[in-house]
Amino acid sequence: MATDYEIIMGLETHVRIKSETKMFCSCTNAVELAPEPNIHTCPICMGFPGVLPTLSEWVVDLAVRAGHALSCTVQPQSIFDRKSYFYPDLPMGYQITQFYEPIAMHGDVRVVIDWEIRSFRIHHMHIENDAGKLIHVGGKTLCDYNRAGSPLMEIVTEPDFRSKADVLEYLKEIQKLMRWCGASDADMEKWQLRCDVNISLRKKWETILNSRVELKNINSFSAIGRAIDAEYARQQELYDAWKAVDQETRGWNDEKGFSFSLRSKEDAMDYRYFPEPDLPPLLLTEEFIHERVLHELPIDRRMKYLTEYKLSEDDARILSQSREISDFYEALVGLTKDPKKSCSYITTVLFWIFLADPSTGTIETLPFPVEYLAQVIRLVNEDALASTNSKIVIETMFTSQETPDEIIDRLGLRQKNDTEALEKIVDQVLADSPAQIADYKSGKVNIFGFFVGQCMKLSKGQGNPKIFTDILQKKLSE
Ligand SMILES: [Zn+2]
Repeated sequence: MATDYEIIMGLETHVRIKSETKMFCSCTNAVELAPEPNIHTCPICMGFPGVLPTLSEWVVDLAVRAGHALSCTVQPQSIFDRKSYFYPDLPMGYQITQFYEPIAMHGDVRVVIDWEIRSFRIHHMHIENDAGKLIHVGGKTLCDYNRAGSPLMEIVTEPDFRSKADVLEYLKEIQKLMRWCGASDADMEKWQLRCDVNISLRKKWETILNSRVELKNINSFSAIGRAIDAEYARQQELYDAWKAVDQETRGWNDEKGFSFSLRSKEDAMDYRYFPEPDLPPLLLTEEFIHERVLHELPIDRRMKYLTEYKLSEDDARILSQSREISDFYEALVGLTKDPKKSCSYITTVLFWIFLADPSTGTIETLPFPVEYLAQVIRLVNEDALASTNSKIVIETMFTSQETPDEIIDRLGLRQKNDTEALEKIVDQVLADSPAQIADYKSGKVNIFGFFVGQCMKLSKGQGNPKIFTDILQKKLSE
């Protein structure tokens, strides 16, 4: 029975670091944009004899930021190791990685699953250089080394995952965290984020860990889901038939929906790890590490929006989705001191404008400062601008250089709150509507909206509807 088994998973995720240059040379790291193969190469990343690697400070900077995003302890000293193997995509004949002393240790990634915070432990994160790409065409293999030497982070978790939902939520959070701290765009389609999943099964009452199978290099959320389902079914079938699950590395064919053995434990490669002789230990000062601390992670913001600002779960999630949106919202709340209205002006008004006309851009490309939006909200709160008209003002801000006040005056949208003037308008409307008054007094109270509408029309939209309502209620009950 399927329900007898528990699935245990751990993840190794590779994330490409978004530095301008490769890890140990000055070749450009814009590998996805390369118009031709083998144009971003040099003697260093091609492993010519006698060349020496120089570690890019840019890579270290972003790796430290990522270490903080993963809530890891960033190590003041880490060490590079040489991992030797022969494969045509690896011109140096070895990879420079961190095996014994990685740059970041013992973190955790928190996610929300079914309204609950779950935490997945990070064993460590290390940095290493990527290999090139092999292209198989017409029975031949071509080598493209644009990617060789590009910097990667490998994030290794503890075996804390118990379901497909756990894995997918964790990976989405990793993607968000990497973008948040600026270390990577983590776009799976561009191979900036790819994942190995270690899977084992055990009976629910067991505490041991059985042989695990490593599924290599899966690079889409949906493929990971399918690969986990298929591997669960495969191992369950073996156990149900009293057969052993071999500890092995398997590849996943997503088109055909099956996995296949790449190598068993017996043919595990001996990488002959040893300290990289061409690079000294990486020493970081406390100052360098602390300057890169992230004070609030997206999950902290999300929780603050839920508990402190009392936003809905959907709004809290949307506003903590990206750093650009979240920072904009934080700045807006700082100015308006009104978390709810600030939220609705972003999620309903601004997002609606972006959706209706993609040429209006995004939060990052707003043509007006956050202060202008805060001013609009303030004018609405002060009853100087009707909330329906506030949308017209914001739309105008996309095309005009004027301040909200200037737009409101030019368009004649400043709301009139002068009770005496508004009372005259009410009197006029009532004098013009004897039939409707008779209807209202005979019990058709729904007609009340008609009077407010007439008053708004007569005031050219500038009268305060709340004041009109008060005056009308008083006069109609006389
Ligand atoms: Zn190079």
